[in-house]
Amino acid sequence: MTEVIGIINQKGGVAKTTTAINLTATLTQKGKKVLLVDLDPQANATTGLGIDKTNLNYSIRDVLLDECEIEEAIIPTDYENLDILPSNLSLSKVEKQLAGETAPEYILRRYLERIDEYYDMIIIDSPPTLGRLAYNVLVASDSVIIPVQTEYYAMEGVVDLLDAIKEVEDKLYSETEIKGVLLTMHDKREKLTNEVAYLVKEFFKDKMFKTIIPRNAPVKRSAADGIPCVIKYPDSTGAIAYVKFTEEFLERS
Ligand code: ADP
Ligand code: MG
Repeated sequence: MTEVIGIINQKGGVAKTTTAINLTATLTQKGKKVLLVDLDPQANATTGLGIDKTNLNYSIRDVLLDECEIEEAIIPTDYENLDILPSNLSLSKVEKQLAGETAPEYILRRYLERIDEYYDMIIIDSPPTLGRLAYNVLVASDSVIIPVQTEYYAMEGVVDLLDAIKEVEDKLYSETEIKGVLLTMHDKREKLTNEVAYLVKEFFKDKMFKTIIPRNAPVKRSAADGIPCVIKYPDSTGAIAYVKFTEEFLERS
């Protein structure tokens, strides 16, 4: 069975996209066939894999609005076993456009079910909002990974996200497991971030991934290069942490 995993947290800048890209790339290096779905109008996952978002024939927006077949929008990347369903800014208007549809939260799931047999795993990168697109992620996903940056307001919004997961279960009859919570961009030299890490762990307990992703310059640099850090800078502490995290993730699958 294909496993669909959403990377979600409506807070921006917590390393959702970075996690989605490096998890996906590491999974393919371990022999899995993976589709990365970019569900953010900012399209950082698309660019982060070296795809020119200004030069797409079709994007996820066209799929969701039924203007092309999902097979037409999915494109291969430079990496073996790694395809992407790319995004661009045109996705930003879709939330409104979906409003008139019946069961608008189910749209992504319906399309992914058409092609999931081609993949071992589908990873979805989410927008920094808890609107209709995020609900589409929750309904489409078997489980979610919640990246949390260890900074002062880390837990802000997480309670709303947990409520949304519960709401999807109760009202939309779609169960989404929390696969795990991942601490990201951690700077262990800062006292505050260590305190925040402690609080997050107290809250999520065994849901925490043991691996913590350190703040590490090559991770940031690789985003600008359009090449996943685990491929471009495999010896960096950031890449090593993302590989360890992926192994931990696989143990939970
Ligand atoms: P989100 O998708 O949640 O908005 P991003 O993955 O885009 O977050 O990350 C936000 C910014 O932080 C980006 O510039 C990214 O390159 C940078 N970043 C992410 N993880 C790390 C890290 N471990 N070390 C240094 N910079 C990072
Ligand atoms: Mg992002």
